[in-house]
Amino acid sequence: MKKIFRLGYVTILASVLLVTSCTNDAALANDENSVIANTTSKTGKTALSSGTKKLLIIGIDGCRGDALMGANTPNVHALLPNSIYSLDALTEAPTWSGNGWSTMLSGVTHLKHGVTDNSFSNPNFGTYPSFLKRLETYNSALKTMSIVHWAPINTYIVDGIDVEKTLTADLAVKNEAVAALTNDNPDALFLHFDDVDHAGHSYGFSINVPQYKSSIETTDGYIGEILAALKNRPNYANEDWLVVVAPDHGGIVTGSTGSHGGSSYEERNIFTIFNNKNFTSNKIEKPVDPTTSITGKFANFNANSIYASTSNALYNFGTSSFTVECRIKTSGYSSDPSIVSNKNWVSGKNRGFIICANTGGTWKVNIGDTQNRVDISGGTIIDGKWHHLTLVVDRSSKLVKTYQDGAFVGQAAIQASFGSLTSGLPFAIGQDGTLAYGANVNGNIAEVRVWNKALSEASILNYTCSSVTSSHPDYVNLIGYWKGDNGSGSNFTDSSSKQVALSFPNVPTWTTSTASLKCGNANGIVPKMVDIAYSSLQWFGVPINLAWSLDGRSWLPAN
Ligand SMILES: [Zn+2]
Repeated sequence: MKKIFRLGYVTILASVLLVTSCTNDAALANDENSVIANTTSKTGKTALSSGTKKLLIIGIDGCRGDALMGANTPNVHALLPNSIYSLDALTEAPTWSGNGWSTMLSGVTHLKHGVTDNSFSNPNFGTYPSFLKRLETYNSALKTMSIVHWAPINTYIVDGIDVEKTLTADLAVKNEAVAALTNDNPDALFLHFDDVDHAGHSYGFSINVPQYKSSIETTDGYIGEILAALKNRPNYANEDWLVVVAPDHGGIVTGSTGSHGGSSYEERNIFTIFNNKNFTSNKIEKPVDPTTSITGKFANFNANSIYASTSNALYNFGTSSFTVECRIKTSGYSSDPSIVSNKNWVSGKNRGFIICANTGGTWKVNIGDTQNRVDISGGTIIDGKWHHLTLVVDRSSKLVKTYQDGAFVGQAAIQASFGSLTSGLPFAIGQDGTLAYGANVNGNIAEVRVWNKALSEASILNYTCSSVTSSHPDYVNLIGYWKGDNGSGSNFTDSSSKQVALSFPNVPTWTTSTASLKCGNANGIVPKMVDIAYSSLQWFGVPINLAWSLDGRSWLPAN
């Protein structure tokens, strides 16, 4: 959300917000740094033409890919037969514009560029500049331009380039872009349109919202005029344009309006279009999530007094790494009840950890040490299906990471000064460490696993849908494993070697049920926001310096 009040030429950012220090992130690019895209299409045409390399990036703030495809958008659709594109691409959470545009332009996640909201309070663009600036450093003869509607892009993110223009309307951005293509000779031109985001906030981010759809169609008309100006350039035949179209984030409908900023898939999901007259169409889709059916007799956590706990000190982690996993099945609840925790959840700064259900039908994780806190939001869980939730606290890499149904959701940095998480309180399922928090999850909790190490992504994914056995590669690190399907009684039996049974002070009702569980490879290898800068640099043949520590990869055909 961009809460900006414009007073003449003065733009005031008024949004600082984020009550928590939530700094999640959806990029999965670190393990892909050296991967060269194998985007050769099945029909095989990959040769790039010669000609002067040129780049046009059209940024559409808050534009959902499904809405872009579903609206009457002939100009964008006309790009697709010559595009490598994806409607399943991802940006990182928090899904604020500050974070999104910073990530697109710098090619690194917020863990490096430091922008997690729209306050730009502590950016690292000195170390991680925009790729436009890197282009200037590579070859100062290149004409680099940024024409935007949202001022902070030029104020904070972009500097050291040839032309920065900030305008107060999308129409003016379009006119300026047409003028630049007609009268100037841009080599790399970045454009930003904002009206789609405005419509999304006012009416909802959905193809079913007429005002949002209409705004996308207007923007598509602008894109048509811009592309016509591009093709009318006198030397167009000798130019080789890469045209990139992408938003900074997705968005959701909330009541009669819309929002973004969270970690839900709908907010993190973006589209990416890489178009060139010589590209062959290649639509990159995420793999379909496999699902499994879970049947068992589970305890109903349908009252604050129904919880299982232990005072065993094994589950106080001090400053060590650990992982907590659990499954939850719920159709709704009130407030933000604990699922698994060992802290007093009345404050997020209290010592300890929590995986909790959160307002809006989502979930979140939190750790605190009395002085600091880290929070990451997850996606929706109130669909009556099982969801596998994972919290990883990795003290060596100073990161908190979360996964839902085996798929990466977000990550956040742990402050260097972050202290002990040992609360001295009980470890509890269905309650916080005080055993007296005033909310319950109103559902089933099962398959709770505690590990005294930070599990790898593969290790989490591979066991999302199956039970842990002694063949698990990290089995020796399993220090608590409550399957929660024993079907009766007042205990959760521990299947780990520690054999710490959790006791229910009040005997729960146990109910047989069957529900599905996603088994999580949804992120797959799809384009990420960080890939746009990397691909753009590659387009101009800029040698990627490993010291830049870019997080992305290229999706362009091999030259
Ligand atoms: Zn917005």
